[in-house]
Amino acid sequence: MKRQEQLYEGKAKIIYATEDPDLVIQYFKDDATAFDGIKKGTIVDKGVINNHVSTKIFQYLEEKGVATHYVERLNDREMLVKSLEIIPVEVVFRNVAAGSLCKRLGIEEAKLLDPPIQEFFLKDDPLHDPMINESHIKTFEWATEKEVAFLKTSGSKVNQLLTEFFKERGIRLVDFKLEYGRHKGEVLLGDEISPDGCRLWDWETGEKMDKDRFRFNLGSVEEKYQEVYNLVCGEG
Ligand code: UDP
Repeated sequence: MKRQEQLYEGKAKIIYATEDPDLVIQYFKDDATAFDGIKKGTIVDKGVINNHVSTKIFQYLEEKGVATHYVERLNDREMLVKSLEIIPVEVVFRNVAAGSLCKRLGIEEAKLLDPPIQEFFLKDDPLHDPMINESHIKTFEWATEKEVAFLKTSGSKVNQLLTEFFKERGIRLVDFKLEYGRHKGEVLLGDEISPDGCRLWDWETGEKMDKDRFRFNLGSVEEKYQEVYNLVCGEG
């Protein structure tokens, strides 16, 4: 499957058409942004790592009965996926307090969240992805009530599965963001699942192994992404 015209360029990925209107190619870039694009940089080989890590995770989720847009990984930077009409709602799950939750509610970082917290944000860069609730989603028709119910149950299942997946690899899944889209009447999990959109801490040391290293200039960014790659995609 070869790529045709570019359909969209985002901060971390480019979407290309293919000869099949139901399929598109996600090309993973090394570009990194944070704080609504104010901080820009490059994480060498991030695109390759995120493509491989996302592939492994989508395959695992599919095996466990979660319908995703994943079709196949074409090469180091390209993933063939089903084309989606993206639902403009980011679904966040939090197992441990970090990031915007701490800022917004004055919660100390690393506090365990039991039961996990689920939040919705509007996918809208110019508005800085504001937090929204089900009532906003319903009134503004960003998703149907049935779809919202699905996002919650599917997201919760993904949280349980990924928490287990990462734990087996010595990583604590602190929080993460999911995006879903519509494809031929079905809602599928889309986007990518990688250290760009998940907070991942070393289970033993609590060391950060995700995009927070880039956001807050913690150093060893490439090394930590590579470590996640090795733990997720390595044989041993
Ligand atoms: N996240 C993301 N894209 C966004 C916002 C958040 O991938 O536009 C991820 C982020 O990496 C983290 C989780 O969602 O794993 C929760 O993010 P949070 O609300 O704490 O926002 P942040 O502190 O990252 O701005």
